[in-house]
Amino acid sequence: DELISQIAAGEVVERPASVVRELVDNALDAGATQITLRLLAGGVRLITVEDDGVGIPREELPVALRRHATSKIADLHDLETVVTMGFRGEALAAIASVSEASILSRPAGQDSAYLLDARSGELRPAARNPGTTVEIKELFFSTPARRKFLKTDATELAHCVESVRRHALARPDVGFSIWHEGKLVEQWRAVPSSDPQEALARRLADVLGEDFVAQSVPVERLNGAITVTGRAGIPDAARSRPDHQYCYVNGRFVRDKVLTHAARSAYEDVLHGQKQPIYALYITIDPARIDVNVHPTKIEVRFRDSREVHQAVRYAIEDALAVPRA
Ligand code: ADP
Ligand code: MG
Repeated sequence: DELISQIAAGEVVERPASVVRELVDNALDAGATQITLRLLAGGVRLITVEDDGVGIPREELPVALRRHATSKIADLHDLETVVTMGFRGEALAAIASVSEASILSRPAGQDSAYLLDARSGELRPAARNPGTTVEIKELFFSTPARRKFLKTDATELAHCVESVRRHALARPDVGFSIWHEGKLVEQWRAVPSSDPQEALARRLADVLGEDFVAQSVPVERLNGAITVTGRAGIPDAARSRPDHQYCYVNGRFVRDKVLTHAARSAYEDVLHGQKQPIYALYITIDPARIDVNVHPTKIEVRFRDSREVHQAVRYAIEDALAVPRA
């Protein structure tokens, strides 16, 4: 089973940022309102994710580390919705198989927290407020070949920050902070707004900068089976690199050719030359219209009718930018 987990790890865990993505995902699934990430050496030596979510009861701690252990699938109907979100119960087991992992957790109703050391299996009482802390030390220590492929600490840190940024842009209601080598590198406070456009604008200002918000317009296409909201940069805000292009499908960050192409087509007539538009787009679509589980890293989706999605995204941006349609 350890070996299978290590093979799974080869697919799921590419670098510290992949671990960060999975752990932050779990914290959000647990209903956290505040998530703190602490890293040493770009995450290679240590990744700690602390949350204030529902916690894991003492007796379930060893189960959380087992393959196919997931508390998130209740029945078959649930399986369909849950699969779109990518829950597979593999991540923690895979990560723990290529690191020194421990979980410290306390559900609100439990007297004490418990700490589980994944290597030794030792479970002992410890101190903690309600919530969960997952600690991942010495990633790839047992697979030096993988470790060799990692880049400099600064590069790995940048990837970790990008992982959190992708989550943060989907959840303005949750606060995030990132520490590296004991220094606070990013802090995005929870936005307590009930207006989604306003909340998004405030989170975007924190994460991508005030300039982005000043140089962008709200996107809101609510008619039809596919809704598209978010913000699109005006042509003047375009950059030389496609580094500020964020797309979400049903709340999940994706990288998808159909979406990128749709956005590019919307900007075609207003953006000349090689410049890249900037945008954060949130697509909501009936889960029955997408195929999931294309790839274990969960970044990919496949639309059953990609023309329909392409058109919805393109029109949404064109309308936002007031680009006349032929
Ligand atoms: P999945 O998220 O696909 O269910 P994981 O391997 O990522 O699988 O996690 C296994 C299980 O451990 C989860 O289903 C959940 O029950 C529990 N778990 C992991 N992280 C947390 C957390 N931060 N808070 C509460 N429960 C957690
Ligand atoms: Mg998970």
